[in-house]
This record gives sequence, structure tokens and C-alpha cells, in this order.
Amino acid sequence: MKAFLRSAHSLALATLLLAPLARAEVNVVEKVAPNVYFHEGDIGRHGHCNNGWIVFNDYVLIIDANFPSGAQVVLPKIKALTDKPIRFAFDTHHHGDHAYGNQVMHEAGATIVGHSGVLAEMKKYETNLFGGGKPGRWEDAAKGRKDVAASKLRPPSLLFEKQLTFDDGTHRVELLHLGVAHTYGDGWAWLPKERIVFTGDACVNGPYNYIGDGNIHEWIKTLDKVIALKPLKVCPAHGPSGGPEVLANQQLYFKSLLAEVKKLKDAGKTAAEVQAASDTIKEALRKNEKIAHYIGQFINAQVEKAWTEMGGAAFPAKKQAQVEPVRLKAAQLLVVSDNSLPSR
Ligand SMILES: [Zn+2]
Repeated sequence: MKAFLRSAHSLALATLLLAPLARAEVNVVEKVAPNVYFHEGDIGRHGHCNNGWIVFNDYVLIIDANFPSGAQVVLPKIKALTDKPIRFAFDTHHHGDHAYGNQVMHEAGATIVGHSGVLAEMKKYETNLFGGGKPGRWEDAAKGRKDVAASKLRPPSLLFEKQLTFDDGTHRVELLHLGVAHTYGDGWAWLPKERIVFTGDACVNGPYNYIGDGNIHEWIKTLDKVIALKPLKVCPAHGPSGGPEVLANQQLYFKSLLAEVKKLKDAGKTAAEVQAASDTIKEALRKNEKIAHYIGQFINAQVEKAWTEMGGAAFPAKKQAQVEPVRLKAAQLLVVSDNSLPSR
């Protein structure tokens, strides 16, 4: 367990361990359209993200590389469906549960693709591989996860700025960067013919919104651009797939969070008072059934992020959830447990 808790998304995992959700669909291949597949990863036990893949005429494009062990879960399932070579793996962003499996994907034959921000943020956060001189998140994760320790970090080498398109006449996948959201390098995979979008962590379906590397105000605007594509099917990076309501609810959660924090800002509250109001905000958000399932372990950090983005000072007394998550130990996470998650 400690192994997982060193990763950037460890808080989400801890939430699940504390309050397991009904997840019958985990680790099952879902065919969302002809030659288009979605696979919900086992975040609760292994920290895995969801994957998608598209079988083109000549090759397979995989969405997200997962952790190394997650890549090893999905690769045999893909190979069971097609003998086409796995030629590309797309990192929706730089976090470990989406990109640390790059080496495994590479060994399976894939070139790693990502927005240029994925490479930039790997350099900033993930590792001393680039000569930064000090260990980063990858080294931390490798101390606790055998799959990470047995692999190595492989950055994306096929980079795009705004769009990279795969189109063989039958299938078309547009990898899009639409602005800052969960990170500064988020990419979306948009299938205009089928109107399917694979979102990465820029849209999740459950209590998984880690906001430490992004910007909530920008995130809402970026979601507007994805909603404007009018997808019929939304495949998030954590939690089950759904329809366009998944994007709408994700955005509504952030809008509601900002509205609650702004009320306090407008009332002239101090950082300490806003911090003390986190539970009240949580209860206000929970009243809306469309967004209640987004409330979890990250709530205090989300309130502080919303507040500081509005110009407020950092919270005076840090709760553990507001410390950089990669540095947290399991016991610290458990102190701030949230047992009031709704069951689905
Ligand atoms: Zn992430």
C-alpha cells in the first residue's frame, strides 16, 4: 500500500481504500464502437488508470500507458482482440498512473506520443533523468512500487502542440490540446466520427480530482471546449464511462466549488476561516446529486486551490491533504479520511 501512496494520485487511491465504491466494471473490456475500446483500470487495488485503444487498419493506438503493471494488464487483452501491431501509446498527461508504463508500451512496439507539456512537466516534476540533480516523483514511486522499480521512465518522443491526427480513412483520432486543466500538458483523444472522447484526468467520474498541478479556473474553460465538441460517449481516466453528462458534471463540480469559495471571499473571510469552512463547503456540494460523487479525499486541497487562485493566502495550518501528495505517507493520509463518500 505504501508503494501506491508515493504517487501523485495516491490520495485518490487512499479514498478508495477507505470507502470502496461498487466497481463491477473494473478490468472489463468495453467495446464502445467498432474497433474502439475502453478499459476501466483497478485504481483501488493497483492505482491503475483507465485505458482506451483504437484498432486502425494497420496498427493500434493506445490511450494512456498506465503504470507498468497496468500496461501489463491491458496489453494481453488488446493482443487477444487483434494481431495488428501496437504502434502508438498516447500519454494524456505526465502523471505516474498514465505515463510510467511508457517503457512497457515501448517494449510492446509503441512510440510514446504526448503534448509537449507532458515532456516539460516530466522534466519539472517526475525525475532526475533529465539532469535536474534531485530525485522526483518517479524515483519516489520506484521506492515503493515494484513495477515502477523494474521499469524506467521513458518520456514521449512524438510531441504535438495543438493537434496530432491519426486518420486511415476508416478511423480518425484527433489528439488535442485545448488548454490548461488537470495539468499544463493535458491531451484529449477525440473521435469525430463516433463522437467519443477519451479525457485523461481532465475529466473523471468519481472522487479523483487531484488539482495540485493544474488550474481550476482554466480547467472550467477547457472543459467548455470539449463540451462544445458534443461528444456522445465520454471515457474518463478514472471511474466508469458515460455520456456527455460526465463532462457536464465534472465542470459543474468545479463551478460549484468556486461559487462556494467565492461567497467566503466576497464576505471578507480570512484564509484560516476558509480553511475552517471546508466541511461546510463539502456539505453544500453534497446536496447536488450530480456532483456528490466527486467529493473525496482531495476536498480540502481543492478548497485551498480555489481560494489561492482567487488571490487568497495559503491556508495557515496545512492539513495533510494539502501537502504535496507525493511526499505523504500512508498514515498521514488515513488521518484525513473521509468516510462519507456516497456509494454508487
Ligand atoms: Zn493525473
